[in-house]
Amino acid sequence: MNVLTIRREIQVSGLVQGVGFRPFVYRLAAELGLAGSVKNTASGVVIEVQGETDLVENFLARLQGEAPPLSQILHVEVEDIDYVDENEFRIVESCKGHPVRTLISPDVSICNDCLAELLDPNDRRFRYPFINCTNCGPRFTIVKHIPYDRPNTSMAKFRMCPACQAEYDDPRSRRFHAQPNACWDCGPTLELWTEEEHLPRDRDPITAVIDLLRSGRIGAVKGLGGFHLVADALNAAAVSLLRERKRRIEKPFAIMVPNVTTAEEFCEVSQTEREVLQSFQRPIALLRKKKRCSLSEEVAPQNRDLGVFLPYTPVHQLLFREGGFKALVMTSGNASEEPIAIDNDEARKRLRGLADFFLVHDRDILLRCDDSVVRVANTQAIQVRRSRGFVPAPILLHKETPAVLALGGELKNTICFAKGRQAFLSQHIGDLENLAGYKFLLEAIGHFSKVLEIDPGIIAYDLHPDYLSTKWALQQTDRILVGVQHHHAHIASCMAENHLDGAVIGLALDGTGFGTDGHIWGGEILIADYEQFTRAAHLECVPMPGGAAAIHEPWRMAVSYLAQCLGPEFRRAKLPFLDGINPKRIEIVLRMIERRLNAPVTSSCGRLFDAVASITGIRQFVNYEGQAAIELEMAADGCAEQGRYPFELAANGDGFVIRTNPMFQALVSDVLASVPAGMMSARFHNGLADVLARTARLLRERTGLHRVCASGGTFNNALLVQKLSRALEADGFEVFLQRQVPCGDGGLSLGQAIIATHRCR
Ligand code: ZN
Ligand code: ZN
Ligand code: FE
Repeated sequence: MNVLTIRREIQVSGLVQGVGFRPFVYRLAAELGLAGSVKNTASGVVIEVQGETDLVENFLARLQGEAPPLSQILHVEVEDIDYVDENEFRIVESCKGHPVRTLISPDVSICNDCLAELLDPNDRRFRYPFINCTNCGPRFTIVKHIPYDRPNTSMAKFRMCPACQAEYDDPRSRRFHAQPNACWDCGPTLELWTEEEHLPRDRDPITAVIDLLRSGRIGAVKGLGGFHLVADALNAAAVSLLRERKRRIEKPFAIMVPNVTTAEEFCEVSQTEREVLQSFQRPIALLRKKKRCSLSEEVAPQNRDLGVFLPYTPVHQLLFREGGFKALVMTSGNASEEPIAIDNDEARKRLRGLADFFLVHDRDILLRCDDSVVRVANTQAIQVRRSRGFVPAPILLHKETPAVLALGGELKNTICFAKGRQAFLSQHIGDLENLAGYKFLLEAIGHFSKVLEIDPGIIAYDLHPDYLSTKWALQQTDRILVGVQHHHAHIASCMAENHLDGAVIGLALDGTGFGTDGHIWGGEILIADYEQFTRAAHLECVPMPGGAAAIHEPWRMAVSYLAQCLGPEFRRAKLPFLDGINPKRIEIVLRMIERRLNAPVTSSCGRLFDAVASITGIRQFVNYEGQAAIELEMAADGCAEQGRYPFELAANGDGFVIRTNPMFQALVSDVLASVPAGMMSARFHNGLADVLARTARLLRERTGLHRVCASGGTFNNALLVQKLSRALEADGFEVFLQRQVPCGDGGLSLGQAIIATHRCR
């Protein structure tokens, strides 16, 4: 025996199963001439490795440095063990009967090796629309149960042919234990459904679809996480038709383009944005449109940005490579805010009238999963909608937590299961206002608890008594139930993502959240830790005339604010923003405000943005959530305005209230002086950032806290984030934002989960 020979046991935990980890270990050991074994265990992978000290050290270093792209190593434990007489490295079967508890990988875009085979006429999978390997393909969306083995996926019904089986069994193959492994002979197939008679049945579906799209037709194409509605983005008539059929006015569509070079024809693409576009998660990246963009304005009307993503399935690749499209509109296959359709027959029913044809296949999608949306600010990728490609990879926590389920909010909903040091946020579930959304919520709860094997003893929910999620929570009488205030959850989400402890100054700015006083909050400055919070300051409250109607019609909020600060006589100023509104409607709104009829009060920051967007003449009616605020932000683009509108910070009981009167007075005199809208927008942003920074300073004097967490949907506003962080950092504050988890309501569930577990301690 060589004296330098050692044997070590290496326990690796994390996302290391179903991602090609064992073949990687096998190849690495073989390359270094090491003996030993690797096998899956309940918590990950255990490796025994034996050989000369240097080589074993080398193995350890490369194990982490070169791990497969989809793996995510959470923890490695190394121990010296006794030498064994062997000179081979083996992959050992995991013992049956011991269910493997491990992480399931998200769905992954087609890898370069599979792409090369897809395009190679000599490869046996040439043009095969379901080609995949351990480095790519569907995962999360085809899993029924754990462990992640073929019989527990929607691939169970396909029996592998001898050639595929041989790859599956060969540790040296890229398809070793690739559960969705398939080929022309044994796997799923595409099928084209159309009402049109002149399409021969034996026609290749891909080429037929290309012809249909070229002729301006709209298709429903089944992808990884659901159906997309697809149209040629360079065909203005097709895009308009899609808008008309989907009844989607002005809300931007995302486009898929064949590669980064084409993206650069339409948009500015930074280095980080390029990386985001090409990442294996393939999210939709929000990119800045070029001044001269050849795309139809109908794709994203009045919008500075364009949602762009690259092909991520073999079907997408074939459509682009053989169809030569420059850009395809790809939007969720659903009727406005409903969940995305996944089942073939369901799609045919629900999308009838929307699509001219259906490109379907027989590999069932078991769990719907929308595309993710990411934007880049200062070379950092920020999650706007965390879904396909990222889910169900965990968010790592810095402390142990008991098993908990958090149900999120009402719009852009996600749920969160957490246990140990991992928090699993669900895919985008969407709006729970409709029954379909609620059913999807229940589906997600059932599925996650099964595949994660988490039985939550604690359930966290929003304080709003009318939310369907709240009602569901209150029925779970055998659990500990914890109601969490909306804005507290936003701040805790930001703290958890940034691994903070103790108390912080929390800036929680958004549209709507139920307050502890029963009012609608949304411009909140909290002193918060994981257990509790105090409302240290907030935007002053104003009536929302007509309730929800005020969200759809920003001019109502403008009237409300102006009536409050200038009195009803403000109409004598003849501000142009009301020119298009029927005077009778203005009268009614004024009466609602005066008599407090159907006019709940709110401290919402979203509504403040709406009012300013209205008075500057930018927008009186919105067609999608946040539209007025988004357009107000964009109006300030490139405006180097240094001036700012004054907000007043007044004492209010134990805290402060931010009064808007002087701000609106200054705004109105600018409107009367015909100051350009962009300049007014910049002055508003500057003023808001300033008053928030001043508030933080006063709270620091009182509490000694110097860490600021900023969360809530308003922080999707990059301009505000930039101005505010600059002001705070210049003043010695540490500023924490959200990146991995959305700052909007998609990130609420994480905060709820953490607060609930702390309350139960
Ligand atoms: Zn692959
Ligand atoms: Zn096969
Ligand atoms: Fe919110």
